[in-house]
Amino acid sequence: MVIKSTNPATLEINGEVEETSPEALEKIFDEARAAQRKWRLLSTAKRARIIVKVNEYIADHIDDISVIISKETGKPPLEAFNAEVYGIMDAAFYYYNNAEKVLDAKEELDLGFYSSLDKSSFIVYKPVGVVSVIGPYNYPFAIPFNQIMQSLIAGNSVVFKPSSDTVLVGKKIQDVFDSIDDLPSGVLTTVFGSGSVLGNVLVSKANRVVFTGSTETGKAIMKKAAETLTPVCLELGGKSEMIILPDANLDRAILAARWGCFTNSGQVCSSVKRLYLHESIAKDFTRRLVDATKKLKQGNPTDPGVDVGAMVNETQMNKVLQAIDGAKKEGAMVLCGGRRNPAFKGYFIEPTILGNCKNAMQCVQREIFGPVLPIITFKTAGEAVALANNNPYGLTSSIWTENYEEGIKLAKEIDSGTVMINEVVYTFALAPTPWGGVKSSGIGRTHGKMGFLEVVDPLHIHVDKYNAPDAWWMPYDKDFAEMMENFKLIAKSLIVRD
Ligand code: NAD
Repeated sequence: MVIKSTNPATLEINGEVEETSPEALEKIFDEARAAQRKWRLLSTAKRARIIVKVNEYIADHIDDISVIISKETGKPPLEAFNAEVYGIMDAAFYYYNNAEKVLDAKEELDLGFYSSLDKSSFIVYKPVGVVSVIGPYNYPFAIPFNQIMQSLIAGNSVVFKPSSDTVLVGKKIQDVFDSIDDLPSGVLTTVFGSGSVLGNVLVSKANRVVFTGSTETGKAIMKKAAETLTPVCLELGGKSEMIILPDANLDRAILAARWGCFTNSGQVCSSVKRLYLHESIAKDFTRRLVDATKKLKQGNPTDPGVDVGAMVNETQMNKVLQAIDGAKKEGAMVLCGGRRNPAFKGYFIEPTILGNCKNAMQCVQREIFGPVLPIITFKTAGEAVALANNNPYGLTSSIWTENYEEGIKLAKEIDSGTVMINEVVYTFALAPTPWGGVKSSGIGRTHGKMGFLEVVDPLHIHVDKYNAPDAWWMPYDKDFAEMMENFKLIAKSLIVRD
């Protein structure tokens, strides 16, 4: 059986790949496990030096990779380069320079009284074994590539399954790693197939699952993982909000809201999906944002000058159109867009802004994974934070104000994985910064130090150089009783008084 890849903008067939059977996948895990036993013996520095070689291949194929991403997802190639390819090269370089600091850090612990007995403890990090990386369709290159690099540098092997919508990008990721001569075979294997067919093996045979996708699938994976107690890192859906306070730089905020909502046709976990405007600026801001949005050029993403391309497939497009219909029924007013773009054969939805929205509406509460922006107004900053937190998701948030201290104070009140002050969306591209959410947006973090710690096990090593029986060992005789009297004195010294 083959999986066909379709260009969602033109409906042309891009190519196809062979599907992996669950039986073949079981064997791939065995090979990955055998390969990992040798791979983990290399030093972190050596592994990082091998992995950073991805940049040599990518540098020679920047345009091909960007175009393949564009043809499978519907986003413009320049956006694919900027948001996916460049970010990965930057991340590879960062991990090359920083992996050792995290993974080879030997953390000595202060044991207090026990140190005086010549005992010491420290923590080292061990690779977990085989990591299943399961990727989404919307950033099919950058998201899994980053997770694969961190897993491999940490000494694991990886079985990677891309989304069935973006199999050629998945194949390209495998090509990039295959171009590295000294990467042992079996350390990374890309498999193709639907989650419903391969999901059980991907979860039950792995030592860790790093999953990115919808909250619904994330819950199914966690349920399956409970059977084997396989730890999971879940990067799930979002409903990221942008809060604009009256003192914000409104010119910049308008352009940020437009890019933050409509980049990749709104198919971004962290795209701006709720806009909270202070009532004093709401009317003017909305008018200017709608005008700016109407100027966006929609079209075949490989044509020059196109800002907004297509949705990934018909199902996703229809889900978004249904959500827009639902919003209208709830009383939202379409200020621009609101329909499939009739100028094209492919799956295009016009950039859509919804006015007259209330926080409790479904279009404000639920993730709409497309180019749709509901606007809500507020009276005070405190009210804005309360409205923002009254939502099932908590991935990224953004507060706009020229008063940075106030912005940081408010940021601390928001239930989110990342709060940006005067920025939107883009910290995903910053390899050192942690990426992940709270509430229905997931569990765990990828990227940076926290991303490495997600794919290793901490091993506590304790060393005794006392060279005599410990005081608490049997027999519990008279000497022991006297010793315990001393311990009672020590215990009383542990009280903290003002
Ligand atoms: P999805 O959940 O439909 O699919 C994601 C991946 O999971 C695909 O590879 C799919 O084949 C696989 N899958 C499906 N069922 C499975 C199962 N039972 N077991 C194992 N694997 C299974 O998500 P999608 O439509 O590709 O992506 C869009 C969603 O992902 C949105 O909700 C978006 O917010 C979220 N997302 C989150 C982040 C983040 O970093 N938090 C990033 C990108 C996308």
